[in-house]
Amino acid sequence: MVLSDEDLDRYARHIVLPQVGGAGQLRLSAAKVVIVGAGGIGAGAIPGLSGAGVGHLTIIDDDKVELSNLQRQPLFSTDQLGQPKALLAEQFIKSRNPNIEVTTVAKRIVDLNADRLLAGHDLILDGTDNFATRLAVSDAAVRLGIPLISAAAQQFQGQISLFRGRPCYRCFVGDAFDADDCDSCAEMGVLGALTGTVGNFAALLAIRAIVGIAPDAAGTLHLFNGLTLNWRQIRIAADPACRACRATSS
Ligand SMILES: [Zn+2]
Repeated sequence: MVLSDEDLDRYARHIVLPQVGGAGQLRLSAAKVVIVGAGGIGAGAIPGLSGAGVGHLTIIDDDKVELSNLQRQPLFSTDQLGQPKALLAEQFIKSRNPNIEVTTVAKRIVDLNADRLLAGHDLILDGTDNFATRLAVSDAAVRLGIPLISAAAQQFQGQISLFRGRPCYRCFVGDAFDADDCDSCAEMGVLGALTGTVGNFAALLAIRAIVGIAPDAAGTLHLFNGLTLNWRQIRIAADPACRACRATSS
């Protein structure tokens, strides 16, 4: 695979970076990333990933645009109320960068379909808003051996982690949250711009991981406080009893 003249122009600001260069740009072009959830965080990550030229993006989302989404989901507009988010995300990506292959899946991920929907990707970016889905995605990522970036935003706090096997997201939150009715931003509220910050940071982690820009400290939780404006990093410990990733430890 070589970069076309158009690529050299489109990605000129990447290619001039010694940490990316032509080789890094080709890694981005070859990468297949699945984004679970085209809501606030997905909508924050998709511009970064599509602009960066990630070659294949799969968007999984079964929602339609509602008026209350527009406070934080910049991919959508008022005249698109009621339309499927996955298809609108595809339109956005194609208009931004027609060279990107896009697959849309208008389904909700559950334990039963997670492996099938996520297999074959190089990286999973989960920006869904409930624990049941996030745990289903995480468990599948562990089973499939695919790196997972898990990102969440609630009220004024954002959290983003990259996981590679063990520890996993389930080590972090435990088993108590498998129920479908756990809190979400619908109940707790979220500052609109925060989801963009978190989604864009998740895209940054994804691009770093795909290109291999710098060590990516899998298992580190990045916490952002939108009230104090502080970022903190916390190491997530592997749970010795974790039913998802314990078997993968060596
Ligand atoms: Zn685990």
